[in-house]
Amino acid sequence: MGRWGHRLFEGDRDIDIAGELGDTIKGKPLELSMMIHQTDMLAPQEARLFYQTDEYKVILEKHIAEVRSQLDSGLGNCFFEKVRAQAKKPNTSDGQYRIIIAGALMMRAGANIKPCYIQYLRGLVPKINCNHGFALPIMDQGFREPGRVQFLNALNNYVAGTPRDFQAPSCFRCGKSEVDLGFAPKKCSRCHGAWYCSQKCQKKQWANHKPACIPPEKKFSLNV
Ligand SMILES: [Zn+2]
Ligand SMILES: [Zn+2]
Repeated sequence: MGRWGHRLFEGDRDIDIAGELGDTIKGKPLELSMMIHQTDMLAPQEARLFYQTDEYKVILEKHIAEVRSQLDSGLGNCFFEKVRAQAKKPNTSDGQYRIIIAGALMMRAGANIKPCYIQYLRGLVPKINCNHGFALPIMDQGFREPGRVQFLNALNNYVAGTPRDFQAPSCFRCGKSEVDLGFAPKKCSRCHGAWYCSQKCQKKQWANHKPACIPPEKKFSLNV
């Protein structure tokens, strides 16, 4: 179990859910976790370097297009309904957060999402647990703070047919990334681990970001 960032798909749990959700459609498994970059710090160096190449970019884009056409052939609605039904069952680990991940994956694919589903997802966000600071892996359920705004912003600006890249740098306060802003958010100059679209957003987020704002040379990381 590990977490190498606080946004969507930057923790093992999100990636695990994505993998499990792919099997939701029986007989026609969707390769959903392959749409998410494998940035895990435990991945071998060669693998991490490969994910940065143009060669991989082509493979990824082709894969995303395939998933989109699968979802848009009618499978998408069926998939979303199934995930919703499963989340209602008692003892489902991660509960309704799985629906959030399903929505994020549909946006990642650039699939058509019914307006009522977008509305449903927006209403679901406040009901999901959101950790604002450090959490032990066992307590690391639901969103982390920048992941929540990232998800909400993606919903608000979603255009079907345009895959949403959740890995692009996004503001830790408002969740916007370059596609929304027209310019790339800037890195926190102290820790290099957070991005902001403006000084206004950076100031508003400071109280929350302060404990995690550790210069790289003082950082001790342990991926467990
Ligand atoms: Zn911002
Ligand atoms: Zn910082």
